[in-house]
Amino acid sequence: MPLLRQPLLMLARSEHVKNAVSRMPVSSGIVHSYVPGETTEAAVEATSRLVDDGLVVTLDYLGEDTLDVEQADTTVQAYLDLLEALSARGLTRKAEVSVKLSAIGQFLPEIGDKVALENARTICRAARNAGTTVTLDMEDHTTTDRTLAVLRELRKDFPETGAVLQAALHRTEADCRALAHEGSRVRLCKGAYLEPEDVAFQDRIEIDKSYVRCLKVLLAGQGYPMIATHDPRMVDIAGSLASRYGRAQGTYEFQMLYGIRPTEQQRLADTGETMRVYIPYGTEWYGYLMRRLAEKPSNLSFFVRSLVSKK
Ligand SMILES: Cc1cc2nc3c(=O)[nH]c(=O)nc-3n(C[C@H](O)[C@H](O)[C@H](O)COP(=O)(O)OP(=O)(O)OC[C@H]3O[C@@H](n4cnc5c(N)ncnc54)[C@H](O)[C@@H]3O)c2cc1C
Repeated sequence: MPLLRQPLLMLARSEHVKNAVSRMPVSSGIVHSYVPGETTEAAVEATSRLVDDGLVVTLDYLGEDTLDVEQADTTVQAYLDLLEALSARGLTRKAEVSVKLSAIGQFLPEIGDKVALENARTICRAARNAGTTVTLDMEDHTTTDRTLAVLRELRKDFPETGAVLQAALHRTEADCRALAHEGSRVRLCKGAYLEPEDVAFQDRIEIDKSYVRCLKVLLAGQGYPMIATHDPRMVDIAGSLASRYGRAQGTYEFQMLYGIRPTEQQRLADTGETMRVYIPYGTEWYGYLMRRLAEKPSNLSFFVRSLVSKK
């Protein structure tokens, strides 16, 4: 684990830090490099630009950990507005949505799982009516079982709903086996959360080895793997494994985050790969930004300059 990742992720939990950082405008350099804007319009514009360049996208209305029913409802409405706007622009064949269950009520005491499931159903229904799909993002390990349980329920009516699995967790290779069946869309990422050693690999090499084992399971399986990584080694290995398992382009896809390695995103799309860009948007960009900074501490000086200049 890079030296700064753990302290940065811990610092991110401080309310003081959150208040100071959240006052930065979305237009400030560091925020804007990862988040194209706060509004539906900004998200649709970013989608349109990427689609024109031959890429596809998944959109995330930023927000997480809500304990407020109204906030959860606002998030659901934001997704409905987004799907309508994408539909009006003819973009839903190229754009799906990513949803965090904690943003739509999962942490509400006692009723959380029920509310999150109902809210997710509402978004899945709107997505299907618009001609697209939903992927459930995965949050920290304390939510994995609950999120997979909601996924199972959702897939009874919306089997096209995608899941995310995190190679950092010890359990993930087994989860990949369980989800590598026909019709199952699984995004494999390394995992962005600080996790304890009883449940997660701590060493980057161990996480990478787990990523490769999981890739093998997904690419050898019957589902639709979504290979979410910016790591050049993982991208190369995924390409070789796809050939080894006789996977044609279009039977799996690559995914990367908005603003990270855009040249590589374009290169993969130009070679005929399906390249999906994850576009986060909205005012609640703090948690997302801090996870991205923790992954790339060399961005810190850029970040501090943005904080000081408040541009
Ligand atoms: C489409 C998508 C969806 C995701 N969804 C989830 C999710 O639901 N749950 C979850 O826990 N995690 C999610 N993640 C994040 C993921 O778990 C990792 O934290 C993140 O992708 C960094 O890991 P990496 O595979 O890119 O490899 P790393 O080894 O971290 O990075 C490889 C290289 O990528 C570049 N890079 C990586 N991060 C950055 C950055 N922040 N800024 C600039 N360059 C960078 C650098 O060149 C770096 O050397 C998602 C990632 C993607 C791409």
